Amino acid sequence: MPTRDKVVFLTIDDGAAKDPAFAKMMSTLRVPFSMFLTDSMVGDDYGYFARLHRLGNKVQNHTLTHKRLTDLPYAAQRAEICGQQDRLQKVFGERPTLFRPPRGHYNSTTLRAAADCGIRATVLWRANVQPKGPHSDARDHTLRPGDIILFHFFPQQRLDGAELRDVTQDLLRTITDQGFAVARLEDYI
Ligand SMILES: [Zn+2]
Repeated sequence: MPTRDKVVFLTIDDGAAKDPAFAKMMSTLRVPFSMFLTDSMVGDDYGYFARLHRLGNKVQNHTLTHKRLTDLPYAAQRAEICGQQDRLQKVFGERPTLFRPPRGHYNSTTLRAAADCGIRATVLWRANVQPKGPHSDARDHTLRPGDIILFHFFPQQRLDGAELRDVTQDLLRTITDQGFAVARLEDYI
């Protein structure tokens, strides 16, 4: 995002893990983040994300089933995006304005389908932060003002014995150490 503010944006994707310790920590810290949710990964547990939404964090669109959109024709891409718009509106009472294509794969058909589903902007990322033992690899990234950070509700098998809470804390510490604050993406877009 173009900005001179010394801020970065935290986006958390998929919705595979529903870790109560992570939710508790984010409730305490009040660090803003945006959730890009995929229906098939959230499953029947939208309640977990509703709790995070009540803290003021927006829920955004990451398709119904996380397919590679560039393999699909317009109608199927539209069904993936509009279907999740409807689902999220039903659960959270508001329609997402932002969309992130699974794994960042998109084409001009994707952008047209997203716009037709009422999406204002398709959002990618600059830093993809992964777990690295009990830490994150955030220290390997040199952050710049306006960077969008891609992070995930990492399931246990991706954490390699670490806790999501600790990996997140490590990421937040790295952001602070590099002199940045976390701002809310929807305030800038
Ligand atoms: Zn994803």
